[in-house]
Amino acid sequence: MRLTGLLAATAALGTIFTALPALAQTVGIAMPTQTSARWIADGDNMVRVLEERGYSTNLQYAQDDIPNQVAQIENMVAGGVDVLIIASIDGTTLSDVLGQAAEQGIRVVAYDRLIRNSPNVDYYATFDNSEVGVQQGQSIIDALDLENQAGPFNIELFGGSPDDNNAFFFYDGAMSVLQPYIDEGKLVVRSGQTGMDTVSTLRWDPATAQARMDNILSAYYGDARLDAVLSPYDGLSIGIISSLRGVGYGSGDMPMPVISGQDAEVQSVKAIISGEQTSTIFKDTRELARVTADMVDAMLQDREVPVNDTETYENGEKVVPSYLLEPVVVTRDNWEEVLVGSGYYTAEQLQ
Ligand code: BGC
Repeated sequence: MRLTGLLAATAALGTIFTALPALAQTVGIAMPTQTSARWIADGDNMVRVLEERGYSTNLQYAQDDIPNQVAQIENMVAGGVDVLIIASIDGTTLSDVLGQAAEQGIRVVAYDRLIRNSPNVDYYATFDNSEVGVQQGQSIIDALDLENQAGPFNIELFGGSPDDNNAFFFYDGAMSVLQPYIDEGKLVVRSGQTGMDTVSTLRWDPATAQARMDNILSAYYGDARLDAVLSPYDGLSIGIISSLRGVGYGSGDMPMPVISGQDAEVQSVKAIISGEQTSTIFKDTRELARVTADMVDAMLQDREVPVNDTETYENGEKVVPSYLLEPVVVTRDNWEEVLVGSGYYTAEQLQ
């Protein structure tokens, strides 16, 4: 009896120890900026999930300053973290510091944004970035009812930061559905500005997008109406909307153009509810944190790491095995169900 009890106790202890192998393990989390609510939510969720699983965490934000992010990661490496989770500012600037991490056997997960030009990226957790772009483009097609309307409609295109691999996936995804309408003449880009070389927005900066919209409106829309704007991120949509408001859109007989977005940031969801913005893309950062933590657990416990894409994300050195989550398009018709129904926001936050 006693022996059985002892064995049971030992087994139970064994379970506890295997359940808590992470007790002494530290995860460094490098996030790009706090200027956007999504990255704050990402950092908070990541810390919460990892701490629930017994890890200690070191979370740093770099305020979109590349040398700052490199220094933060160097400090994490010097401090002996076990794993690095990195949402890069410029995905091409981390090769040296990741080389140092690799020398110390520190494993690396690229978080949301692919890290390029380094063999020392073990896994990538993100959303289906191409699908994000398709959803942005499709939301414009639906709102203009391009299937049934003759048009032509005027559209202008904005891209994300050219140092962020995602920005190309968003743009290409959107253009895969918009280009046929441009070719057919139903959508017209009056400025002629197309292609990421021309339409990208460095560091996803809202003021840059606002200034570009100002220029386009004054140069090409003196006597024409702008009907739609492809915007890849809610922050840019805010800048674009201010510019449009400045020349009278959103009042009287000049309704706002159709405008897309991304991240379901509170201010932009409110703009969707009030009709100023048309759509955004909801990326559930709670899910991204969970998938990333599953990767960390599996790596540190030498188990098979969960991935569902081993082809798409070539980083210049290798194809990084990835887990892609599904983004969800949010409009005036479904914001409540998607955002409040899932508990991501409370109804009060969106009032
Ligand atoms: C993210 C988007 C975000 C953008 C700007 C991208 O890498 O995937 O969700 O809107 O950065 O922060």
